[in-house]
Amino acid sequence: MTKDLTPPKTSAPAEVSNFLRQIIDSDCASDHYANRTDFQGVTLPLVITRFPPEPNGYLHVGHAKSICLNFGLARDYDLMSGGGRCHLRFDDTNPSKEETEYVESIIDSVRWLGFDWIHQAKENLYYASNYFTQLYQFAEILIQRNKAYVDSQSAEDIQKNRGNFSQLGIPSPFRERSSDENLALFRQMKSGIFKDGEHVLRLKIDMSHPNIVLRDPVIYRIRHAHHHRTGNEWCIYPLYDFTHCISDALENITHSICTLEFENNRPLYDWVLNELKEAGALKAPLPKQYEFARLNLTYALTSKRKLLQLVSERHVEGWDDPRMPTIVGLRRRGYTPQSIQLFCERIGVSKADSWIDMSILEQALRDDLDPKAIRAIAVLKPLKLILENFSGIESCSAPRHPHHEDWGRREFPLTQELWIEADDFMANPVKGFFRLYPPIGDTPGSRVRLRYGFVIECTGFETNPSGEVTTVFAKYFADSKSGTPGADNYKVKGNIHWVSAEHAILAEVRLYDRLFTDPQPGSGDKDCVALLNPDSKKIISAYLEPSSKEALPDQKFQFERHGYFVADRIDHSATHPVFNLAVGLKDQWKK
Ligand code: ATP
Ligand code: MG
Repeated sequence: MTKDLTPPKTSAPAEVSNFLRQIIDSDCASDHYANRTDFQGVTLPLVITRFPPEPNGYLHVGHAKSICLNFGLARDYDLMSGGGRCHLRFDDTNPSKEETEYVESIIDSVRWLGFDWIHQAKENLYYASNYFTQLYQFAEILIQRNKAYVDSQSAEDIQKNRGNFSQLGIPSPFRERSSDENLALFRQMKSGIFKDGEHVLRLKIDMSHPNIVLRDPVIYRIRHAHHHRTGNEWCIYPLYDFTHCISDALENITHSICTLEFENNRPLYDWVLNELKEAGALKAPLPKQYEFARLNLTYALTSKRKLLQLVSERHVEGWDDPRMPTIVGLRRRGYTPQSIQLFCERIGVSKADSWIDMSILEQALRDDLDPKAIRAIAVLKPLKLILENFSGIESCSAPRHPHHEDWGRREFPLTQELWIEADDFMANPVKGFFRLYPPIGDTPGSRVRLRYGFVIECTGFETNPSGEVTTVFAKYFADSKSGTPGADNYKVKGNIHWVSAEHAILAEVRLYDRLFTDPQPGSGDKDCVALLNPDSKKIISAYLEPSSKEALPDQKFQFERHGYFVADRIDHSATHPVFNLAVGLKDQWKK
């Protein structure tokens, strides 16, 4: 059984410094966020971060980086005197793409990764949609202060008139509407009398600002759409740049950490909050935005939109297909929360975009499972071996884990007919092949040890009419059993695994490989579907040692000499065992 001796929550904080920890340390030292209280007068922690997914898909390994970062910082600073907490906030302001199914899966995934949003017995689970009323009121405040206006240009004209890097923006003909007119129009927008796209609300900043983001950004648009939480209550919805900073401020976030693409939006984040502070609607100290490099993982997609395409076009079997880089996919593949946390610690955080090799994720899984996964024998490509001079049953055993004698031993019988790995026999051995081969001329057949059993010598083989080897024959040496004094008298170079044909458990084994053949399937305008690896899933029938009939869904194993496997969480049962390849013992993709 997998020993989950160290639940992720209590694992020691990874005290690896990075630029974010340095910023937070300095804010703590200067008491920047000290002495703040919430609306009930309770003192707030010095560090409050948040993880703000949009519920428009399942979380992927890129989100895991952000989760480990935000929840990890909060956990580590909570061990210090000023305290720390992290909020889970659904950034659910786009009604058309968001669904409750996604909300639930995101909650599950964050919890499964080993984090929660409870701090001092209080839940910190939030929804931007809960702030719709407040956001609306703040928008009215900005209109009244002549900092926002209703624009009635078409979406295309707004886009065109924003200009570009070499061209200044052109002010809208509606830019100088009076506050009263704007307020009346905005209220009518809310009341539902206009059609989608007829008007928008824009901030009044600077149409010739060198940073295009500041050229009067749109902050509200009309959308007659059903929202998964607020139903049909609203027909105007706030946009990200307006919602996000205000949500942060309302939740007393201190460090709002996002990916580098939002660097240009930072001045807008500060502009909105400062204006609302000037208006007396928000109090200092305000939250600050910091950017870090997103995770780009080779051979994987880290965009919900593209992952959704794989699911909806049925290139994979669902969001939790074991080949998907989603949290649910990784989980089904056999990844553990600890292995993903370890991966995130190893890659660290920086301000420079880069690609992380898939092998780093795979190695984190090996390193996590090696000390935890119990061992078992599985013959994946079976070939019959008959021990001519053996009869009856010999009981053999091996430790469940080579470093944990206290975990006990697995027992498995040796009988006359065994299954061995087809690759462990060669009728015409190549140079350097030390496993089974038959007598050739005067040279006797090779000798190998049957792992945890006897030394055998190959005596011959049989083929079918098309020349394929169907059976290998050998004789065994009765005084050579592993663990007995006689064992040392035999020196052999090969050591192969086997299961008794009579006692083996027949199992479905799903051999997974990388989903794409291209290391960067999502970059540029590549058609990722054309880059799918046609061999990313192979289903085989394998023979397993008898102890594996006790395997429970989601239990991890090391199939000796092959790799790490997991009993499929969904499909595995005692009557129909199903195992997924999580990761091979060695990197198969290394050049
Ligand atoms: P996607 O393009 O996959 O939809 P997103 O950024 O739109 O990603 P959100 O739900 O908005 O998805 O993301 C929630 C949080 O996760 C954000 O703070 C975002 O910065 C972070 N995040 C998303 N993708 C990555 C990534 N590849 N690496 C690190 N953090 C990420
Ligand atoms: Mg997003």
